[in-house]
Amino acid sequence: MDEPRPSFHLRATGLRKRYGEREVVAGVDLELKAGECFGLLGPNGAGKTTTLRLCLGLIEPDAGTIEVLSYRVPGQAREARHRIGVVPQADNLDPDFTAAENLLVYGRYFGMTDAAIRARTPALLEFAGLGARADSRIQTLSGGMKRRLTLARALVNDPDLIFMDEPTTGLDPQARHVIWERLRQLLGQGKTIFLTTHFMDEAERLAQRLAIMDNGRIIAGGAPRELIERHIEPQVVEAFGDGAEGWFAESGAALSQRCEKAGETIFCYTRDADPMVRELERRRDVRYLHRHANLEDVFLKLTGRELRD
Ligand code: ADP
Repeated sequence: MDEPRPSFHLRATGLRKRYGEREVVAGVDLELKAGECFGLLGPNGAGKTTTLRLCLGLIEPDAGTIEVLSYRVPGQAREARHRIGVVPQADNLDPDFTAAENLLVYGRYFGMTDAAIRARTPALLEFAGLGARADSRIQTLSGGMKRRLTLARALVNDPDLIFMDEPTTGLDPQARHVIWERLRQLLGQGKTIFLTTHFMDEAERLAQRLAIMDNGRIIAGGAPRELIERHIEPQVVEAFGDGAEGWFAESGAALSQRCEKAGETIFCYTRDADPMVRELERRRDVRYLHRHANLEDVFLKLTGRELRD
């Protein structure tokens, strides 16, 4: 008989990790329900990768508890990792091996027999759209193909939970869409996905729930739509061009609930953009874009617009 599925695939409470003077993870609580895609968002340096590494048991927390697939981490991290797939940020495929050999070598880490890995290889390569590339060397694959192979490799042990650290960073738009489509297929198969990303469109598309992290802390969490409704006015007018500043001073500011400036663009947030749009249509010196508020607006409001390196 099937064992009952735990309702949570990951639970972390009070996680802390310090490097030198800096507390990089400063009291983080996380819960991933079985079968959901959970997104961890944050600017560079927020502490996302460190959080992921803590959850994988690759580094020891200074404080807090972690339970992954009912295993205590880091104590039982080895057992937990047998049920986990990891897609790291940088492709670390072995360049000396072919696509199929990379799956073989990786599968052996899990104690799988060569026969068992070989039996799974065609389906995994097919899933990655690399059915014809089993014998290709890694150097001959494009960036998108390498990412897909890294994803296939993470599935070699048929994991219940998949960690993905910025899975589409560095990919072109076509290649990103293919990865998203594959991730949706995996969710359709009942896998749980823990995704870190700084792409808001990716998070909005894939994640049922997400948390925004900054300076080691979770500063907001919820479903993408909830976050937008809770934190931001529903409509946005982005005004730019020679006359934008003048228009803003004359009337834009008064018609907005909240405004922000970034570079040459003025972002006007409002509950009703109609009066603003009617005015802007009459002005030839201002260009504008009228749109619904999105997750990026929430992210920028909560984490600020200054650059993070
Ligand atoms: P993110 O994934 O959100 O970009 P990271 O978790 O990679 O953030 O890093 C958070 C901060 O911790 C950064 O300032 C980074 O330089 C620092 N950091 C990460 N790993 C180490 C380490 N092994 N030693 C010292 N500092 C580290």
